[in-house]
Parts: sequence; C-alpha cells; structure tokens
Amino acid sequence: MELIKRKVELLVSKYDTNCPFKLAKLLGIKVEFEYLGKILGYYNKNFRCQLIHLNENTEEHKQFFVCSHELGHAILHPDENTPFLKKHTLFSTSKIETEANNFALELIFSKNDCITIEDAINKYGVPKQLALLKSLGR
Ligand SMILES: [Zn+2]
Repeated sequence: MELIKRKVELLVSKYDTNCPFKLAKLLGIKVEFEYLGKILGYYNKNFRCQLIHLNENTEEHKQFFVCSHELGHAILHPDENTPFLKKHTLFSTSKIETEANNFALELIFSKNDCITIEDAINKYGVPKQLALLKSLGR
C-alpha cells in the first residue's frame, strides 16, 4: 500500500497532473472507448502496445475512477492481462484488483487533500464502499 502511494506521488509530481487520461497519454498508454456490455473496463498488452479499454456507455464522470483503476494495472501489472472490471468484481479480494483500486484511490486523492468522500463518489465515480474504506484509513 505504501509502495503504491509512493508510485502515485512520483507520477503526479513528475507529470503535474492526477488525471488518468492525461497520464495515460503521457505514458504512451492508449485509451479506447468501446462497446463492452456490462464490463466497465479492462487492461491488456498487445505486443508492446499497452491498452486501456473503457466502456463507451459509462457515464462520463465514472470514467475517471475506472480509467485510474486500469492505469493502475498498466503501471503495477504491465504484463498481465487483467480480468474485466465489472460492478460485482470491484470488491474482489484478488491481489491485483485490490492494488489497482488502491492505486486509483491514491491518484484521485493525491492532488487535493480536501476532496471529500462525497466528491470522490459523485465527481469521480469512486464506488461508495471503496470511498468509505478510504475515509476510515485516513
Ligand atoms: Zn482490475
């Protein structure tokens, strides 16, 4: 957890943004919006090309969290093809999913310490359960 926090801090200070879309672009990771049905998003690597796939039908503000989660995979687990992120797997206990969620939370809260839990949920699409966990940890 601390290591992930440190990675996020380095990224944010190096590129001076905590926007996952900008960071992906700066890091050469492609973000594509596709028809994905019930899947929120996933990350994969095709030869050397890193790709984040997002659901074109997800409400815009929710993309911020999902993109942050997938960016977490791209940075923490670059060579793994990660499972599809679905609503019910958001709270999966698998290690890489937990790490990607932690990465996303650190990223969203990194630039702005006064962001409230309500902001995280309503403006950035952080799932309520995760936002509450974060608030307990602070
Ligand atoms: Zn994931």
